[in-house]
Amino acid sequence: MITLKEALKLNKDELAKFKEELKTNIEKNADINAYIDIHNVGEGVPIAIKDNIQVKDWSVTSGSKILQGYIAPYNATVIEKMLVAGLSPFGRTNMDEFAMGSTTESSFYGKTLNPHNKDCVPGGSSGGSAAAVAAGLAIAALGSDTGGSIRQPASFCGIVGMKPTYGRVSRYGLGAYASSLDQIGPMTQNVEDAAILYDIISGHDEKDSTSANKNDKVSDKLNASRKLKIAVLPKHIQNASDDVKKAYELAITALKNAGHEIVEAELMDAKFDISAYYITATAEATTNLARYDGIRYGNRVVGKDLNDTFIQTRSQGFGDEVKRRILLGNFVLSSGYYEAYYVKAQKTRHLIKEQYSKIFENVDLILSPVAPTTANKFGELSTPMEMYLSDLYTISVNLAGLPAISVPVAKSSEGMPIGLQLIANAYEEQTLFDGALSLE
Ligand code: GLN
Repeated sequence: MITLKEALKLNKDELAKFKEELKTNIEKNADINAYIDIHNVGEGVPIAIKDNIQVKDWSVTSGSKILQGYIAPYNATVIEKMLVAGLSPFGRTNMDEFAMGSTTESSFYGKTLNPHNKDCVPGGSSGGSAAAVAAGLAIAALGSDTGGSIRQPASFCGIVGMKPTYGRVSRYGLGAYASSLDQIGPMTQNVEDAAILYDIISGHDEKDSTSANKNDKVSDKLNASRKLKIAVLPKHIQNASDDVKKAYELAITALKNAGHEIVEAELMDAKFDISAYYITATAEATTNLARYDGIRYGNRVVGKDLNDTFIQTRSQGFGDEVKRRILLGNFVLSSGYYEAYYVKAQKTRHLIKEQYSKIFENVDLILSPVAPTTANKFGELSTPMEMYLSDLYTISVNLAGLPAISVPVAKSSEGMPIGLQLIANAYEEQTLFDGALSLE
């Protein structure tokens, strides 16, 4: 597959021909189920779009039955920026329902297969985007990352996935899961393409009140020979499988050989991250999903009165995982429990932020696993709790609002891809991409 950098040099006719071939190839690989459907806007370079990003006149459903029939009336800001830069939204990719999950199994459209082994999950929630890039069915894709949903599927599928600093990329037009954690980011074949796509979609947007007033770009200044100070986490990696640990050790050696200085650091026990994240994310999700009532958007199941219409619509429209999170979110926000759970989670979140600030007083980057294992087999994680626990390496980054990038570094003994992530201080994307070049 040609890279994004190469594709940006193609002329109109070459692009039209390329898109025809791409379409045929996607149809041939329909079993992977990376795409929900294929539409194209404009004459530019085709980029696959996660099904929670608004593309005007497309059906956009966040992988949910409750949004069947909903047609987006406007473009997300990232889509507007892509169009200006000569990119075409091309196809919408499969995802866990409302981006809740780590396997893409909770989509209304069925599961997506991992192109490296079709018995394995592609990761999630941006599993369709990751599988599309990994299978050569997309030059690049957009995903969204609330607690790892770009980085973990990138790691499972052997591609690059980057989560920007909170506020770098506009959330206008992104179907909200947990608004204080969500960021849109690039999923690409290599680090340079990720930097190029990041540059295109990032920048201040007055339509998003949490958008940062920053417009600096990185891809023209990429510097692979910059020497950086990188923290490694000897205690934290003990929770990873032997394959991941081995990849981590090899990466440290490679970084040393590239001239980087390696120091050791420690993060607090990940059980605090997981609790703070699943309380914060479900609380925000409960609020964000209240709008899907069958009146304003998408699917309506008419009941015997208005209240029954709400109940029927939501009972039949949401899947089990989404219902579980709405219940959990309502619980932690209800009076009597709010102080004990929600407020405590916010205090923990503050401590997580502080621990990172302290580490970044002395280092440029942190090297961490992305997931404790390689892609699991379908059905292998048998309880929701097991799935939540597998997010231990990704979620603190969202709680602290930091940028991070997952880069494929090795294969397991079974031939499955292993990614590692670099984490940078807020707004240090240049350092993040520069460092990532030494990992690939
Ligand atoms: N697996 C995490 C969750 O289910 C992260 C999902 C995401 O980043 N959207 O909440």
